[in-house]
Amino acid sequence: MFDKILISRCFLGENVRYNSELIPLKHPLLTLWQQQNRLIALCPEVSGGLPTPREPAEQQFNNNSIITITGTDVSAQFNLGAKHALALCQLHHIRFALLKESSPSCGSTLIYDGSFSNKKIAGQGITSKRLTQAGVKVFSENNLEQLAKLLDTK
Ligand code: SF4
Repeated sequence: MFDKILISRCFLGENVRYNSELIPLKHPLLTLWQQQNRLIALCPEVSGGLPTPREPAEQQFNNNSIITITGTDVSAQFNLGAKHALALCQLHHIRFALLKESSPSCGSTLIYDGSFSNKKIAGQGITSKRLTQAGVKVFSENNLEQLAKLLDTK
């Protein structure tokens, strides 16, 4: 059986982003993985109960919370989404995830610094972090070729 891949729903062109922007990821590998029925899609923030559109939110590193730009604490929704992502991985025996870089949930190497000033720092989003801790390898739109090398082919 092919390795399944957990994928950010926004990569499939779905209207789940905080600002309702559609960002379908167009790449031959993604088309192949769709044809191979490898993809299991989730938006952790929507799965955690947040609407679309929604206020932008960023991790706050002084107290480990996730706060929207107007100060609402959405940590519970973000953590619930991460829990759902991990449960999906466990259900489908998923070892790999392809998640949107820089998102406060899905970012795998970069996230915004919590100041809402468009500044990125090294770090992982809440879901990426939870999956990585559980042994799931998380990739982004910037390195999906590396993911392809690790997948089984039969
Ligand atoms: S939380 Fe992840 S899947 Fe949902 S819109 Fe943001 S980057 Fe995409």
